[in-house]
Amino acid sequence: MDRANDNPKIRFELNVIIEEILGSDRVEGVRILDVLSKETREITADGVFIYVGTDPNAQFIKGEIETDDKGYILSNSLLQTNIAGVYAAGDIRNTPLRQVATAVGDGALAAVEVEKFLADKVV
Ligand SMILES: Cc1cc2nc3c(=O)[nH]c(=O)nc-3n(C[C@H](O)[C@H](O)[C@H](O)COP(=O)(O)OP(=O)(O)OC[C@H]3O[C@@H](n4cnc5c(N)ncnc54)[C@H](O)[C@@H]3O)c2cc1C
Repeated sequence: MDRANDNPKIRFELNVIIEEILGSDRVEGVRILDVLSKETREITADGVFIYVGTDPNAQFIKGEIETDDKGYILSNSLLQTNIAGVYAAGDIRNTPLRQVATAVGDGALAAVEVEKFLADKVV
């Protein structure tokens, strides 16, 4: 935070919400509303990166499959959960990196592990 504050290229806009992303063919700026003064203002910008954080949508398995205190499904290196035959892949699980590349890798591994799990069940 201190480094960002000290960087002359970064300006914080506090107590504001983005009302509209402006531009016709491309992003040209944003209109912001100051929630305290109720005034609106436009800021010129070439791009907008929306970073809203994450909130795992795992309520439907609550009480069934173990999660961490933030609600992410706990899985081991083979993506197995605490229930045999149930695997977790992608952003929903406890992982140090939530990106497309890691989610796709998880999907591939989970599919292979599911296949092995089911093959063991075939008599
Ligand atoms: C704003 C933003 C920018 C990002 N930018 C990048 C980037 O530049 N590069 C990058 O690599 N990653 C980026 N990511 C991260 C990337 O999008 C995720 O890591 C990736 O999409 C995770 O894939 P996933 O399949 O695990 O989850 P998701 O893509 O979230 O897919 C989960 C799917 O499950 C569905 N679903 C949810 N609940 C249920 C239910 N109960 N039943 C059935 N379906 C359900 C959802 O509708 C959704 O379609 C970004 C994420 C955000 C939010």
